Amino acid sequence: MPYPVVHLMFFVFCLSSSALYGFVNTARSEGVQWTDWWHLVLLLMLGGFFSLLPDIPAVWNYLMYGTIEHTMAGPVPTHSLLFSSLAFFGAALIGQLLYRHRGKAVALGIFGWAASLSHLLLDDVADGAITYFYPFDNRSMSLFSYVNVDLAEVNFMYYNLAGMVIVLFVSCIMLMTIWSLNYLGFGFRYLPLGTRIGDGEKNNEIYVVGSGHSSEVGHAADTLKK
Ligand SMILES: [Zn+2]
Repeated sequence: MPYPVVHLMFFVFCLSSSALYGFVNTARSEGVQWTDWWHLVLLLMLGGFFSLLPDIPAVWNYLMYGTIEHTMAGPVPTHSLLFSSLAFFGAALIGQLLYRHRGKAVALGIFGWAASLSHLLLDDVADGAITYFYPFDNRSMSLFSYVNVDLAEVNFMYYNLAGMVIVLFVSCIMLMTIWSLNYLGFGFRYLPLGTRIGDGEKNNEIYVVGSGHSSEVGHAADTLKK
């Protein structure tokens, strides 16, 4: 089991890196208001909190019983897709109070859900006893144990498909994070090859050109104003 700070840092610095990159670029090139800094900090704090959600029973178990048992909330395994989905509703509720905008509330919900799923991902890599499919299947499993197999001794198709499921799981978490952050103003956008410098500035966007290809460095300012 990774330490809480590792879960938190994994979500903030790895999965949310697009937000950090876009924000720093916009802050350097255009400047941002202090409210934007608070927006960033609040978002990352929420993401950090929900990345720890599956271990949250450890808090009251420690206070009540002096143990750090953290895998069960009553009869419900916390390291499951079902319990992780609570993060969606919790974060969406906070989003509705914060933004008073249904779309942004849903985006924050997905952001919180992705944070919670990232916890399962890291625990799976570390020691892999995740009851993903509770209540349909109560067995603990490790998706990542399917990655490390000897090709000559196993069912080729079975482990290939299992490997693809792992990749899709990781990809889903990343896309959920990137999409929700982009919707909330922190993100990137593809700049078509034919776009000239200056075209983006008409839309309050700033671009750089390098090695014959164009890439966007930031467009958070206009989306944050939505
Ligand atoms: Zn855990």
